[in-house]
Amino acid sequence: MTRRARAMLCALLLALPACVRAPSPLTPDRVGSVGLPHRGTLSRAASLPGVGAGFARLRKDERSYGTAGLVGAIERAAAVVARERPGSVLVVGDLSLPHGGRIVPHLSHRTGRDADLLLYVSTPDGAMLTSPGFVHFGPDGLAWDPRGQRFLRFDVEREWILIKTLVEDDDARVQWIFLNHALEPMLIDWARAKGEPPETIRRAEEVLLEPHPGGVHDDHTHVRVACSEEEVREGCEPNGPDRAWFAKGEPRPEPPSTEELVHDVSEPLADLAERGL
Ligand SMILES: [Zn+2]
Repeated sequence: MTRRARAMLCALLLALPACVRAPSPLTPDRVGSVGLPHRGTLSRAASLPGVGAGFARLRKDERSYGTAGLVGAIERAAAVVARERPGSVLVVGDLSLPHGGRIVPHLSHRTGRDADLLLYVSTPDGAMLTSPGFVHFGPDGLAWDPRGQRFLRFDVEREWILIKTLVEDDDARVQWIFLNHALEPMLIDWARAKGEPPETIRRAEEVLLEPHPGGVHDDHTHVRVACSEEEVREGCEPNGPDRAWFAKGEPRPEPPSTEELVHDVSEPLADLAERGL
């Protein structure tokens, strides 16, 4: 189908989901996180600052935009880790571009609902370090840092605080945290050994996943947040599961019954009739 023919069809069939994935003059009410993470756009985005309480962006570029929900969730979680382990810095990779859309080399990251968070690292002896960048951890929890010419250890303790805060944050609506299948058990075992709340561990097990396809995620986590009810009304297309712990929006008022509608319409008419008008 030609682009012109498709545009005409969309104009005729505005209700078709395929036609409303991007804001356009024909869809002025589509704002915010619009479409799907791998096919969509972003407007009215929030930007994660280059540096904040307990976090710093890896690169100073414009790949720092996301929904207010995602940006707030990262800021809150990083601040908690820094409060519990002073000196901690969460190094943040790409979110989305200011207006979303395609962003190489990612498949998703197009609607402001995805963020790459580098892993917390320590020396092999356990001394806290700030991540030097993307380093690949093996199933032994060690990574070779070619720039620093040293081994680094996956800092399970601090990573767990981050994951715990994200999944306990009901407003964050964290749907997935993509992470390597060999690193996930280290976090879960640590949480169990510490006696963390079973509900928190259950949530972590639900969201932690090594996606196929999608890469092994042995050098960062990829956090995906779900559309809120309000965002869905504005064009965000839900995909994937709604977690049981997500905060629900304000309950929508029940629509008036037929009797109420008839009453509302007939009462003024009765009033007019009584007054002989
Ligand atoms: Zn990612």
